[in-house]
Amino acid sequence: MSPALDTVAGDAELPAQADVVVIGGGIVGVSAAYELAKKGLRVALLEKGRVGAEQSSRNWGWCRAYGRSLPELPLARHSLALWGAMDAEIGLEAGFRRTGLLVVTRDPAELAHWEEWTSRTRDYQMRGRILAPAEVQELVPASAERWLGGLYSPDDGRAEPARAAPAIATAARRRGVTIHQECAARGLETTAGAVSAVVTERGVVRTDAVLCAGGAWTSMFCRRHGIDLPQAGVFASACRTDPGPEVTPGGVHTPGYAFRRREDGGYTVAVGGAGRVELTPQGLRYARKFLPLFLKRRKKLTLGIGRSFLSGPEARASWSLDQVSPFERTRVLDPPADPRLIEAAMGRLRAAYPALAGLRVVEAWGGLIDSTPDARPVISPAGPLRGFFVAAGFSGHGFGLGPGAGRLAADLVAGDPPIVDPAPFRYSRLVDGSPLRPSAWG
Ligand SMILES: Cc1cc2nc3c(=O)[nH]c(=O)nc-3n(C[C@H](O)[C@H](O)[C@H](O)COP(=O)(O)OP(=O)(O)OC[C@H]3O[C@@H](n4cnc5c(N)ncnc54)[C@H](O)[C@@H]3O)c2cc1C
Repeated sequence: MSPALDTVAGDAELPAQADVVVIGGGIVGVSAAYELAKKGLRVALLEKGRVGAEQSSRNWGWCRAYGRSLPELPLARHSLALWGAMDAEIGLEAGFRRTGLLVVTRDPAELAHWEEWTSRTRDYQMRGRILAPAEVQELVPASAERWLGGLYSPDDGRAEPARAAPAIATAARRRGVTIHQECAARGLETTAGAVSAVVTERGVVRTDAVLCAGGAWTSMFCRRHGIDLPQAGVFASACRTDPGPEVTPGGVHTPGYAFRRREDGGYTVAVGGAGRVELTPQGLRYARKFLPLFLKRRKKLTLGIGRSFLSGPEARASWSLDQVSPFERTRVLDPPADPRLIEAAMGRLRAAYPALAGLRVVEAWGGLIDSTPDARPVISPAGPLRGFFVAAGFSGHGFGLGPGAGRLAADLVAGDPPIVDPAPFRYSRLVDGSPLRPSAWG
């Protein structure tokens, strides 16, 4: 079931030409389109389904810098600053609230790891702090559980996935971006080693710059043009409840469940890190590169074979540009929620918070999280084609990073000084034999 999502007005006519074509209307694509338009460029955004309908409306809505790997921290912090200014900037509600986020544990080794991370991030002006058991209790007095400790990050917060990408897309459109939904990009035309056009199901747009922000579909799109992008997906599940008493203004992550307060007074609830990996042709292709990441997370993952072997972003596919492409065959990737994970998360939440015992699930949904082998996104020119850029592989934390990632991608496409050092996000690290160690917390 697709979660609730605001709608975005689109443009019927494809432009014959654009300075930049953005492929993908998730949080990253719409943020990049907005920033590119702000730079005065003519932008067309192509979305095969609806703006925000894949990962960007299916996530928990956590916007966090805590737990990020050090190379990612400047982008995470920049993104949080953009979130903080978002509603005033776009003149619409994206739902961001700087509520603080809390993660708790009973594992001494985990707590020691957080302490070390906190000390290593001092230079980044992070205000996160380690909490003693009594301090955790003060933050969540309604909890019947006791913890060894926690990490609280007051600068982090939450936004509303149902609203954010549509609101940014609407603001981008007001700045002149044309938005084309139900309009898949089938592939690129090239001239002398450079991008010269994007072929869509509704016609051709001439351009010499393309940003592919296609989420889980990016590797398939790249492969069509001989560009190798190691990417793998994990099916995750989440749900939302009806309104209930406020036991935290932000989000709480525990080993068995995670939840965050929503603007509508309910909660978004899930089991953190849990999901299903399906065997696919793309998965087999990149298995060796993903093995360390898989081993690190295997306790919470199940492995199986399902429909994604034959259809969806990781299936084997070939098509010519005048044929229906796999992108059109799956307008919105809408995997089912795993009922066992939803029941487990809700059961633990209700038991831990007697005040929430009466909460009911209103909607549950699945989503395919797209990862890179080192759990860090690619925001970079990709492959040998001049004018081709990728922003994908956000590895389960691209909603919070989205606005900053869009800004960085726009800087790179426009040839402007980048807002943060782009080196940690370069494409080449995934294919040039660089060691690919999964980042600290994923
Ligand atoms: C259950 C779950 C919980 C999560 N929780 C969090 C969280 O709390 N915080 C956080 O920061 N992140 C979280 N994430 C991750 C986050 O949602 C993603 O990292 C982020 O939304 C990625 O944004 P995106 O724009 O790259 O991709 P997407 O939102 O997937 O958008 C890509 C878009 O590209 C379109 N597309 C693909 N190919 C084509 C084509 N050829 N032509 C036209 N359009 C195309 C797709 O239809 C899609 O709409 C979670 C993810 C899930 C599934």
